[in-house]
Amino acid sequence: MLKMTDIRKTFRTDTVETHALRDFNLHVEEGDFVAVTGPSGSGKTTFLNVAGLLESFDGGDYQLDGKSVRGMNDRQLAQLRNEKIGFIFQSFNLLPDLNLFDNVDVPLRYRGFGAAERKQRIEQALETVGLANRLKHYPAQLSGGQQQRVAIARALAGSPRFLLADEPTGNLDSNMASGVLDLLSEINAQGTTIIMVTHDPGLAQRAQRNIFVRDGQVTEVKTGTNIKELLQQTAQV
Ligand code: ATP
Repeated sequence: MLKMTDIRKTFRTDTVETHALRDFNLHVEEGDFVAVTGPSGSGKTTFLNVAGLLESFDGGDYQLDGKSVRGMNDRQLAQLRNEKIGFIFQSFNLLPDLNLFDNVDVPLRYRGFGAAERKQRIEQALETVGLANRLKHYPAQLSGGQQQRVAIARALAGSPRFLLADEPTGNLDSNMASGVLDLLSEINAQGTTIIMVTHDPGLAQRAQRNIFVRDGQVTEVKTGTNIKELLQQTAQV
């Protein structure tokens, strides 16, 4: 369970104050697949970074599995993040000089798993994303869709409860994007809660729940709402 209550986040420079999240309220249940859409600059990435404990917040409360993260120190936040959260990004963020096995190994080494457990986790994760036969390949030898699958394997290898995806299909053509969404749906069906930011209304509509972020606030969007139209309307305001 992920519960945000009246979360506020303000970015300040010498001259500008940006209220990125204003009284942001969201309750995500175990097993949900939530797509997050909204105009550019509305606060989607900030929300995901706060949810993933990468970014602090200024007010309100955030509970992860019933535990408030307010007042936790950096070490406690890092531990909670490592235990519960996996990330995938638009740009894959793979290390070009490491083969697939070693790419997936990076966060597992960081977390201190032993060699035998790491090997088992890496092989299982690459199997889940359909790349078990490419352990020794390098990222440059793969298509964009395959590279995103490796990034998904790297996130899954740590057995996260929550998978947070920031525009995971933004660099992919529509066929590859659809394949990555199929994979995310399978992972969700196996029990991982997924929150995905996307600009693509068609992909958003394949999630179980849609939320729309506007000016740092959330609106729940009813199933069947035309998200493309909603984006066009808000872009014109
Ligand atoms: P996009 O769809 O274009 O990626 P977004 O909805 O993800 O946008 P955010 O990146 O969350 O929007 O940004 C929300 C607001 O906060 C924007 O006005 C942005 O300029 C501002 N912002 C985000 N990060 C910072 C930062 N590190 N410093 C200052 N302002 C920031």
